[in-house]
Amino acid sequence: MTDHARYTSELADELGPDVRERFIRYVKIDTQADEDSETFPSTAKQLDLSRILVDELLAMGVADARLEDGYVLASLEGTSGSTPVALFAHVDTSPDAPGGGVKPRVIEKYDGSDITYDANPELILSPKESPDLRAQKGRDVITSDGTTLLGADDKAGVAAIMTAVKYLQEHPEAPRPPLNICFTPDEEVGQGISHLDLDAFGAEVGYTLDGSTAGSIEDETFSADHMVVSFQGRQTHPGAAKDKMVNALRLAGRFIDALPYDEAPETTSGREGFVHPASIEGTSSGITIKLILRDFDTDLLTERGRRVRALAEEIVAPFAAGSVEVTISQQYRNMKDHLRVRPEIADIAHRAIEAAGLTPIRGIIRGGTDGSMLTAKGLPTPNLFTGMHDIHSLKEWVSVQDMADSAATILHLVRLWSEEAR
Ligand SMILES: [Zn+2]
Repeated sequence: MTDHARYTSELADELGPDVRERFIRYVKIDTQADEDSETFPSTAKQLDLSRILVDELLAMGVADARLEDGYVLASLEGTSGSTPVALFAHVDTSPDAPGGGVKPRVIEKYDGSDITYDANPELILSPKESPDLRAQKGRDVITSDGTTLLGADDKAGVAAIMTAVKYLQEHPEAPRPPLNICFTPDEEVGQGISHLDLDAFGAEVGYTLDGSTAGSIEDETFSADHMVVSFQGRQTHPGAAKDKMVNALRLAGRFIDALPYDEAPETTSGREGFVHPASIEGTSSGITIKLILRDFDTDLLTERGRRVRALAEEIVAPFAAGSVEVTISQQYRNMKDHLRVRPEIADIAHRAIEAAGLTPIRGIIRGGTDGSMLTAKGLPTPNLFTGMHDIHSLKEWVSVQDMADSAATILHLVRLWSEEAR
């Protein structure tokens, strides 16, 4: 028996037990990605979960469920509506905190106080630092035992999609457009969709279930460039260097010092962009600095790149024997650049969230998502909430009711797309 009062809607109440059971089971499977791996997926263990998902989809009657090039792919036939819609979540977890041997703990009817951990007495999860916890009073909050991450990022998304698919399979009368399901590996190491054949995939619109607070929809991300600045000096014997030697280390030092400090990740927030020197390597004869550049406005990003390049050239200009080479390459683009031309994609998500009984929160992501890559490749894909919080840390948590709301939102989304004529 569930307690109706704790759920946002009757539908969420109905979905709650299934999403909870799935989530608890999925997080116990170690799917941690590895940044240093050369393989795809970066760790074979991610496929342990992927294989289970294929089996479960087949058991639900989703006949074409399969594992292909590391991706779980499946489709549901549409009853109405002609726009094929894709739902994405990622099976891998972050390498930022231990990810194996996760022991999920459900705090039933959370009382709103600080959460402590027997296995890690120093750790405290407090509503003071994690204010969204306050809204969970009376609900069922899931944490790890405090020695690992939980893996709500993104098993909350996986569980929500699986729960919604199960519901659709059990309710063939529920209208839906053609649906494509995709569970990706390696989102956390930036390779989530690098091997996905989008043409064969066949969707026209997508949503990643990889967001945080209940009700949130994110359709704006950074636009991102990568920059490599290589200073070349001139080596001479230090004993006879006067007026001859150009020390690349000194050029690099001046350059980094000249980067505007009020345009750094550590001094910016909201819609402000930044330039971030990420690594430096070399000797007095040659130095390579790698930087990342970020802006929500792609034109501003281009302008920022121009300014940083000019700065590097200025630094080296007084030294005839020194030189600098600057290359800028595109990493990803603000999905808004593409979503602007199809406003209904975010609008329908907005309406689905309202239909689920929640207040939509339009947000921006100071980063990229699989959705930014998908959008850039031609499949417009904003990001929807799953309820995950304090991700990539030992304090990661999610509530059963938020995940149920996420699954309910998917079902409303599907219904609304089925009413959409092309
Ligand atoms: Zn994620």
